[in-house]
Amino acid sequence: MVCSSCASGTIDSLADKRWRRVLWIALAINLAMFAGEIVAGVASGSRSLQADALDFLGDAANYAISLGVAGMALQWRSRAAVLKGGTILLFGIYVLITTLIAALGDGVPRAETMGAVGLLALLANGGVALMLYRYRSGDANMRSVWICSRNDAIGNLAVLAAAAGVVGTGTQWPDLIVAGIMASLGIVGGSQILRRALGELGQRNAVRPEVSLPEVTSLIN
Ligand SMILES: [Zn+2]
Repeated sequence: MVCSSCASGTIDSLADKRWRRVLWIALAINLAMFAGEIVAGVASGSRSLQADALDFLGDAANYAISLGVAGMALQWRSRAAVLKGGTILLFGIYVLITTLIAALGDGVPRAETMGAVGLLALLANGGVALMLYRYRSGDANMRSVWICSRNDAIGNLAVLAAAAGVVGTGTQWPDLIVAGIMASLGIVGGSQILRRALGELGQRNAVRPEVSLPEVTSLIN
């Protein structure tokens, strides 16, 4: 599931050194888990692991954009959001297509890899959520962090359920169904981010040089 609202914070909270360090660690963990789930997903033949990696990619982009906010011009923030939305959209399409192609065959993904990596993903998301909560900075939006972490956990649990389903049925179908749902949600989420960011860019070019702070925070989320 692609969160659209992880790790928000305004420029004030980003001036807090400790909070910036927390965001850097969260960025590193999310990037590592993105790569880890892709590699494990390809190696084990699991599409749901690859689909779950989408969320780590989106979250990593959120942390990177949050970290860049203090020094970034508004237009570059919109461009970064375009890049983020576009990448998530393309990646979601890739996972959905490979899932549909896999449905034509009858390979069975390795359930033990799915279970182990799904559990690791759950621990990584839980650890990041605890860290964000523990070191939250004054105006950090903890509600969005909570919603985001909850959605992340639902995605990880769906991978674990798919692994159990693969063991139970001896087929790839539980993996494909979970992957299909998650990739579709990623495509929808990516399109929404992309459309909003493109809209912001167009609006700014057309009418107003000034953008209010709420719009800035909605952009980086
Ligand atoms: Zn997330």
